[in-house]
Amino acid sequence: MILDLFKLDGKVAVVTGSGRGIGQAYAVALAEAGADVALVDVIPMDETAAKITALGRKVCTVTADLSKGETAAPAIIADVVKQLGGVDILVNNAGIIRREPFTEHSAKNWNDVLSVNLSTPFFLSQAAARQMIAQGRGGKIINIASMLSFQGGILVPGYAASKGGIKSLTMLMANELAAHGISTNAIAPGYIATENTRPIRENPARNQAILDRIPAGRWGTPEDLMSAVVFLASPASDYMNGHILAVDGGWLAR
Ligand code: NAP
Repeated sequence: MILDLFKLDGKVAVVTGSGRGIGQAYAVALAEAGADVALVDVIPMDETAAKITALGRKVCTVTADLSKGETAAPAIIADVVKQLGGVDILVNNAGIIRREPFTEHSAKNWNDVLSVNLSTPFFLSQAAARQMIAQGRGGKIINIASMLSFQGGILVPGYAASKGGIKSLTMLMANELAAHGISTNAIAPGYIATENTRPIRENPARNQAILDRIPAGRWGTPEDLMSAVVFLASPASDYMNGHILAVDGGWLAR
């Protein structure tokens, strides 16, 4: 039956940046669909872990600085395999944004954003894909893109470059990994109410300009993204590879 294709029973999912915000919603959604979940973050993950335990699923937490993906990624995947027995789904959610005009944008802001948003997803995906290939049962990798995978934005050169890069990396990974039964796709959230977007929601002029452009007429919520991650993590999307799925209240249609 069609709804059975969305079930994740017996799967192990890894979600980065899952201590709060959108990452927490992704982790809970995957657990609601049946997966055991490994949480990865630098902040406490107790709240997310409690929600997953309450669903009767196994959970483990890995405290890691995702600005250092090259050295951290293999250890994170090894830790998850040790604690939960394997890796079937990876959601590269952790991301940061630094707002500063292009002409003043510091090297530190540029490097920090590129590290967390683009380099670490590359290294984590590489480590996870190696594990998935060794397991021999395929897998799902879901990157987190943005409206700025398609548009330039303002004041956020590092962020725009990282999210443009994530779109290209997603397509490259799809091309190389599909033969191993690993699907790579991305979710491109629209304007979602989280800590990340608090400064622009608190600026009345920016807030109104954004709302005026969203056909749905409201900011999105982390809950608006839960079904998309389950879809891309499940057999329901097995013939999707390299797709960037916008969940944006219609923003890109304007
Ligand atoms: P958020 O509320 O800031 O949450 C991001 C999480 O990632 C936080 O727990 C954060 O911890 C963690 N993180 C950041 N840097 C880390 C590091 N070096 N090591 C480990 N964990 C780290 O952000 P969000 O709004 O939920 O965004 C999640 C993803 O969606 C990001 O990739 C973002 O670019 C993307 N996105 C968001 C929107 C939106 O409108 N909110 C739109 C499009 C795309 P800290 O508290 O320590 O930073």
